[in-house]
Parts: sequence; C-alpha cells; structure tokens
Amino acid sequence: MKITNSSDWRDGLPFDLPVDAAEAVPGEPTRCATCGADSEPFPREALWAVKHRHPTNPAGFVRFYCADHRPQTQLAPPATPARVRRERASTPRRAAAPTIPERVAALCPDCFVEVPASGVCGMCGQRVA
Ligand SMILES: [Zn+2]
Ligand SMILES: [Zn+2]
Repeated sequence: MKITNSSDWRDGLPFDLPVDAAEAVPGEPTRCATCGADSEPFPREALWAVKHRHPTNPAGFVRFYCADHRPQTQLAPPATPARVRRERASTPRRAAAPTIPERVAALCPDCFVEVPASGVCGMCGQRVA
C-alpha cells in the first residue's frame, strides 16, 4: 500500500487563491491564521484555505482564514518579466573635435588654383601669399 504524500492535496491548490477549506482540506475545525491562537476554531465550512508560496518548499504551505480575514483575492497576474528599463547612455557621444585648418589655402587670383606653400602660383609664377 502506498503511503500518500501529505503534500499531494496541496499540489492541487492554486497559489495565493482562497479556496473553500471544507472542500480543499476537509478536517477538524481549525483556527484562522490571522485571528491567532487565542481565537476559537472555525468549522472548515467557514474557512478559506490559501496556499502560500514558501521560500524553500516548492509545495508551499496552506493557511486557513476566516471570512473576515480572507486575503483579498489576487488573481495571479501573468508572470511578466520585469520590465527592464534600458539605461540611456549617460555619456554623450563625444563631439568630433573641430578640424583646425592648418593653413588657408591661397588661390591665385588669376588662375584660381591653389598656391603651394611657397606662395608662388604653379601656373603663372605669380607670387600670391
Ligand atoms: Zn480571522
Ligand atoms: Zn597663377
């Protein structure tokens, strides 16, 4: 005979969703987790069972809540990956350094050609600079 793992009934429960305790986990009257240990036990018909996620136990853990303390049903939002805000490049693109002309090319007023560094037009021999 196979021993039923006690976590089996938990497997069928949705996480973070209050379910009818009498239906999900039938048994003895039990206390509301929020009312505390000093409170009177409630019949399970009056309780809600909520399976919470447990940090280390993937099966989670179940707590019971009275009608007053029934957690707000949070229809589990679809697990969307955290929106990663793309960091805007904080360093502006370095502006290209302005090119400093080394020498304003002189043009021969007659030939309209660039005069070499010597200042003498290569076409007409006129000294321009
Ligand atoms: Zn309560
Ligand atoms: Zn010239």
